[in-house]
Amino acid sequence: MTISLSGGCGCGAVRFEISEPLVAAAYCHCTRCQHRTGTAAQASAKTVDGSFRLVSGEAALGRWAPGSGFDKVFCTACGSAVFAQDPDDHDRVMVRMAAIDGDPGVRPQARQFVAYAAPWEPIPDDGLPRFDERLPSL
Ligand SMILES: [Zn+2]
Ligand SMILES: [Zn+2]
Repeated sequence: MTISLSGGCGCGAVRFEISEPLVAAAYCHCTRCQHRTGTAAQASAKTVDGSFRLVSGEAALGRWAPGSGFDKVFCTACGSAVFAQDPDDHDRVMVRMAAIDGDPGVRPQARQFVAYAAPWEPIPDDGLPRFDERLPSL
């Protein structure tokens, strides 16, 4: 398998590889992302189904399964948000852009769930399309 990208958590326990270029990326302003990151928004990128592979750290992974949407997977040792995974199909993965080593090769193309944006930080005036709810393509 050709490795396109690699990455991991802050403490190094969790490491992953991605075998195909990332498909797309977006900022998410939803309240779940605010809570799990402590920030106003987080950038995540969509992987090609089946291209994400965990290299190490399986035992360190924690999962927040809020009842709908993807499981939010993080490192229980350092708290880093690492990826999100479809609970019904583990081949479907969104990777947190900050977890990727170096340049991920894609840039966020939109902002989703802006209807829930944090009141304490203005949404950047960066020209990206804004969606009140989920971005359909992600
Ligand atoms: Zn860690
Ligand atoms: Zn979100």
